[in-house]
Amino acid sequence: MKKIVKNGTIVTATDTYKADLLIEDGKIAMIGRNLDEKDAEVIDAKGCYVFPGGIDPHTHLDMPFGGTVTKDDFESGTIAAAFGGTTTIIDFCLTNKGEPLKKAIETWHNKAKGKAVIDYGFHLMISEINDDVLEELPKIIEEEGITSFKVFMAYKNVFQADDGTLYRTLVAAKELGALVMVHAENGDVIDYLTKKALADGNTDPIYHALTRPPEVEGEATGRACQLTELAGSQLYVVHVSCAQAVEKIAEARNKGLDIWGETCPQYLVLDQSYLEKPNFEGAKYVWSPPLREKWHQDVLWNALKNGQLQTLGSDQCSFDFKGQKELGRGDFTKIPNGGPMIEDRVSILFSEGVKKGRITLNQFVDIMSTRIAKLFGLFPKKGTIAVGADADLVIFDPNVERVISAETHHMSVDYNAFEGMKVTGEPVSVLSRGEFVIRDKTFVGKPGYGQYLNRARYGNYAVSKRDEKLTI
Ligand SMILES: [Zn+2]
Repeated sequence: MKKIVKNGTIVTATDTYKADLLIEDGKIAMIGRNLDEKDAEVIDAKGCYVFPGGIDPHTHLDMPFGGTVTKDDFESGTIAAAFGGTTTIIDFCLTNKGEPLKKAIETWHNKAKGKAVIDYGFHLMISEINDDVLEELPKIIEEEGITSFKVFMAYKNVFQADDGTLYRTLVAAKELGALVMVHAENGDVIDYLTKKALADGNTDPIYHALTRPPEVEGEATGRACQLTELAGSQLYVVHVSCAQAVEKIAEARNKGLDIWGETCPQYLVLDQSYLEKPNFEGAKYVWSPPLREKWHQDVLWNALKNGQLQTLGSDQCSFDFKGQKELGRGDFTKIPNGGPMIEDRVSILFSEGVKKGRITLNQFVDIMSTRIAKLFGLFPKKGTIAVGADADLVIFDPNVERVISAETHHMSVDYNAFEGMKVTGEPVSVLSRGEFVIRDKTFVGKPGYGQYLNRARYGNYAVSKRDEKLTI
């Protein structure tokens, strides 16, 4: 069935204008003034912005961690994402050393299948580089369209890869047309500081932050940038939280290196003092990198504004306070790392960013959708409003005021990290490939509707047969 979105203000990463949209076969078929089509359902977007659906490049749904599993799976997680104005997510597929990559990817497909209500793709974690992995990677790119690899520089004895592995991944990614993503913190130094804190009897949640100071993030970010330069490759630094890391990324970009940086809503509006909340509630704010002193927030906002950082991911990784975060009572190292962020990412960027004059409306769309689509091989199918693109749309009321709360959110977790925060603006309706997922603030989507996204290679690489299908 055809649909026409009428009377809205269309916003892309470059333009803001009043026009109607015709949706046909799940795609945007026409953009124009006073569109009229027989048999088309009319959606009135008067007083609203019409954005391309948000793309969250950083989620951990149904992920095992620290002896437990994240609370939100691909069903509750993608429903919450849709309520928040996100229509595509890219989740991290974990791998185990010595196990075929293909097997890990199958595991992740099974987690998502029949559950996701919006489209999704996967990044692939690289835990080791050997002949088997090097033989498998080209096939993974060609067959699965997984064109981004994640390397952890932290979580010693769990996820952490050594510098040789990072370097060889960068070299392979350059040859194959993939983007390397790093969790940049110096895991060896953190391991030492953590053991020392515990030996000194410092077990409260705040020591999670104090044993991972911003310098360890700055150091690892700088190291990753230098290794990228050496390999002549490309790098995307996930969840940048502090001035020290922004500095290293800015320096690398000034040299002309192909290096990108993501931050997350929690680093833009929360600070280290949250970890000192009484009655162990500080555990709700334990994730890595940790929250920083408040002054870092201005640095991050400025970096988004001037382009030193380009994207916003949620780093959704939710655990209940009761029963999960509580595993770390008496030992902060046993608190599962992560927070529930998938639902509020877009609203916080709009309210704190656009409404407070820190970024423009078009920058907002670029940061939460368009740039991400370009970096991760989804553009222009996703990430913009153009004829031929998927009709992934958010009809957004920019004036409604509301308070974020666990009582009204849609994640399946028992607290909200932004509890009590006043925000302006809310998605009213959200469409994925032309179908309503959220209609008038009510979920009307279907688990299993979300499709797996086979993504194109990074940058201007030779277009393969598979990549051709992605162009519009
Ligand atoms: Zn993460």
